[in-house]
Amino acid sequence: MVTAFQLPAQENQNFAIAIHGGAGTIEKSRFTPEQEKAYRLKLKEAVEAGYKVLDKGGDSLDAITIAINILEDSPFFNAGKGAVYTYDGHHELDASIMDGKNRQAGAVSGVMHVKNPINLAREVMDNSVHVMLSGKGAETFAKQQGLEVVPASYFNTPHRHEALLRAKEKLKQKESGTKGYQALHQALPEQYKMGTVGAVALDKNGNLAAGTSTGGMTAKRFGRVGDSPIIGAGTFADNSSCAVSATGHGEYFIRYNVAADICARVAYQNKTIEQAGQDVIFGPMHRDGGTGGVIIVDKEGNISMPFNTKGMYRASKSNRSATYVGIFK
Ligand code: ASP
Repeated sequence: MVTAFQLPAQENQNFAIAIHGGAGTIEKSRFTPEQEKAYRLKLKEAVEAGYKVLDKGGDSLDAITIAINILEDSPFFNAGKGAVYTYDGHHELDASIMDGKNRQAGAVSGVMHVKNPINLAREVMDNSVHVMLSGKGAETFAKQQGLEVVPASYFNTPHRHEALLRAKEKLKQKESGTKGYQALHQALPEQYKMGTVGAVALDKNGNLAAGTSTGGMTAKRFGRVGDSPIIGAGTFADNSSCAVSATGHGEYFIRYNVAADICARVAYQNKTIEQAGQDVIFGPMHRDGGTGGVIIVDKEGNISMPFNTKGMYRASKSNRSATYVGIFK
């Protein structure tokens, strides 16, 4: 039976997907040609896997989940397998997902053993009465729902461990108590605060979806939670406007409610996603010191990927545009 939520796909309905693998000090000089090629291939693989779902008439939620899983399973990106280390040498993962059709949403923060946190966010959305679960409770729920759990050591990677040691060295230089830590962490170079993966999509039924998954910030402490699992800050989707996934210095993205603000400008000011994205990413948040970027797709299948950093791992594909992969400005 065809229900109100399962209308047959429209022949002339556009469909599109965009993904990101984090923004930051991403400059060509930091890559060997082989490394750059490997990153590009992984982004291409993820965006095309998501696109395939859409092309077959699948749901935007499934398309973004598949794309994000590929990025989570890759050690290149700060999510899942490549997650950064906390100050105490662990990994605390955050993720969120939102369905533009009905504004249902799910989010998790501070999970340490769930292989693909985006899948857990989806379980929270689909099979719990809550929006956000955290820590041990979220992990108990993950086990109950039969999600894949892994030993904490699964998330260990040598390059992220070296980054932690470097960050701690910088933090130690003048650290004196909590206040010193906060000031020093604020002054840590951008690359310690960024990573994250995300995806946004529009499917053939006109449904938008957005999802974001991250390890957060290198050397984060005291149970710090960034914007990625916060609906409205790191992730937002509403069929009447757009779908957004963010990456950047989470504290700013929370305070400026970045993802929801972009969609609100589209909904209430009739701005294009291009204009709304520019306004927010280069507006007061940026002047205040906030760095990062977003990927946006609207209900017509337009795509915009603004960022105010040196680079952002990104890719897109739609029924009207071929696969695009970008890293640098
Ligand atoms: N926004 C993430 C956080 O603050 C990090 C990132 O996107 O790179 O946790």
